Amino acid sequence: MAASSFREDGGAALDWVARYLERVGELPVAGEVEPGAVRGRLPERAPEHGEPFADLLRDLDEILLPGIVHWNHPRFFAYFSITGSEPSILAELLCAALNVNAMAWSTSPAATELELLALDWLADLLGLPAGWHGHIEDSASTSTLAAIVAARGLRPGGVVYGSEHAHFSVEKGARIAGLEYRAVPVDDEFRMRTDFPLDDVTAVVATVGTTSSTSVDPVRALAERCRDAGVWLHVDASYAGAAWVLPELRWTADGCELADSIVVNPHKWLFTTIDCSALWTSRPDAFRAAFAAHGDYLPASEHAHDLREYGPALGRRFRALKLWAVMRAYGRSGLADLIREHIRLAALFEEWVGDEPGWRVVAPRHFSTVCFRHDTLDADDLARRATATGELFVATTRLAGEPAIRLTIGNAKTQESDVRRAWDVLRRVARS
Ligand code: PLP
Repeated sequence: MAASSFREDGGAALDWVARYLERVGELPVAGEVEPGAVRGRLPERAPEHGEPFADLLRDLDEILLPGIVHWNHPRFFAYFSITGSEPSILAELLCAALNVNAMAWSTSPAATELELLALDWLADLLGLPAGWHGHIEDSASTSTLAAIVAARGLRPGGVVYGSEHAHFSVEKGARIAGLEYRAVPVDDEFRMRTDFPLDDVTAVVATVGTTSSTSVDPVRALAERCRDAGVWLHVDASYAGAAWVLPELRWTADGCELADSIVVNPHKWLFTTIDCSALWTSRPDAFRAAFAAHGDYLPASEHAHDLREYGPALGRRFRALKLWAVMRAYGRSGLADLIREHIRLAALFEEWVGDEPGWRVVAPRHFSTVCFRHDTLDADDLARRATATGELFVATTRLAGEPAIRLTIGNAKTQESDVRRAWDVLRRVARS
C-alpha cells in the first residue's frame, strides 16, 4: 500500500469509526441473522490480486454489520456491558503501528516499563496495595489460570476451591492445571461459604462481583483462613474491581490486601477495548518459578523484568498503551464519575422493578447489575423477545435454580433515557 493511499484509506477508516460511534445507538443492538448468512455472502477464497481497502469498508457496512452484535451500544445490557472508548480505540491504532512484541524488556523497553507503570497507576486508583507486581494478560481466564499454576508450584496436587457462583474459567483453569476443582455452596446472598476443609488445598478463588448476581464473597474471612493454612488465595474481581475507584465501594475490596493474586479486567468496566486483563500478585517469585523459560536466542534480561516470565504467552501485545491512554484521558475523577453514574442508573432501574406489581428484584445489588424476573412469565423467553426488538440486549442467568434476567450497565454512552427505554420495552413485551 503506497503512503498516499495509506493516508487516504486511514482517513476513511477513521471517518468510518467516528461515524459508527456517532450512530451506534441508532442501530439494532443485536440483529437477527441465520447461521452461515454472513459467510455465505463472502467469497470462498482469498483474492488472487490485492483489492482496494475501500472494498473492505464497503463489505464491512453491507455484509458484516448485519451480523455484528453492537457491544459498544448504549443499550447493550447483557453479560457485562463494556466500552471501546475513543482514547482506547486510538491507542489500539498506535499499538498496531508500533507492532512491538513485549516478550522481554530488551525487545521494547518502553512497552515493559509502561506496562509496569500502568499497573501501578491502576493499583493506586483502585486502592490496591502498593509494591505488588502487576502485568497484563489477555483475559481473566488466562490471569486466573496463571495464578492457579503459580499456586500449584507451591502446593502441587491439591484441590482448587471456588464458589458455586465462581466463573467457569476457575474450574477450567484448575482442569488445565491438572487439579481437582470443588465448588463451595453459597449463602442466601450468593456469597461463598467459608466453612470448607482446607487440607490438601492448592488454591482458593474468591470472587468480588460474581457473574450471575455480582455477589461479593467474604474475602477477608477466606484470606485469613488461607493465610493460616498456607493456601494461595486468588481474587477474581474481573468486573467489580473497577468499582474500587469509588471510596464508597472500597468495602468490597476488604481483605484483598491479604490475597496472593488479584485480577481486574479493564476491558470490562474500565472503558478499555478488549483485550486487557490486569493481574497483580504479592508473590512474583511464584509466577517466575512457574513461567520463566529462556532460549539461547532470548536470554533473560539482566537488570529488568521480562514479562513473559509471569504468564503462559511469550509474544505479548503492547496493551499497556491503551490502558494508559484511558487513565490519562479520563483521570481518576472521570472514571469515578462514570462508574458512579452507572451505579446510580442501576439503582434507579432496581427501584422501577421493585415498584412495579408483578416484577421482582431477585438478588442484592451492589454495583451496576440488576437481577430480576417477572412473577409469571419465563425470564428466558422475555429476555429473548425483548432483545429481538433490536432496542436493547439483555441476557439471563439462573439464581437458586430459577431463571432471572440480568441488566448490567457499563457503557460510557449509556444515559438514563436508555435505561428508561429498556424498562419500557421489557414491560411492553411482558404485556404483549
Ligand atoms: N470472571 C468473572 C467474574 C467474569 O464475569 C468473567 C467473564 O465475564 C470472567 C472471569 C472471564 O473473563 P474473560 O472473558 O476475560 O476470560
